[in-house]
Amino acid sequence: MHTDTIEPIATEPDMTWREDALCAQAGPEFFFPAPGSSTREAKQLCGACEGRLACLEYALRNDERFGVWGGLSEKERLRLRRDRGRG
Ligand code: SF4
Repeated sequence: MHTDTIEPIATEPDMTWREDALCAQAGPEFFFPAPGSSTREAKQLCGACEGRLACLEYALRNDERFGVWGGLSEKERLRLRRDRGRG
C-alpha cells in the first residue's frame, strides 16, 4: 500500500510589524528598564505603534520574559497568559 507523505511547509512567522516598530529609534533601555524603574514611557510609545498587537502576540507566543512588548510589561503579559489559559 502506498501512502503519500505530506511534507510540512516551513512557515516563517509574520514579522512585518517590526518594519513599523516605533521602538526601533528608541534605545533598548527604554524597553528593558532596570528592575523597579518605570515602564510608563515605553508603554506610551507602544500605544502609538501600529504593530502593537502583532508585537504583543509575538512576545506571548515566544514566551518573551523581559522588557515591554506590545505595551505590556513582563507581569502584565504573564497575567494575560494566565487569563487566556483559563478561558
Ligand atoms: S508595540 Fe512597543 S515594543 Fe512592540 S514594536 Fe511597537 S513600540 Fe516596539
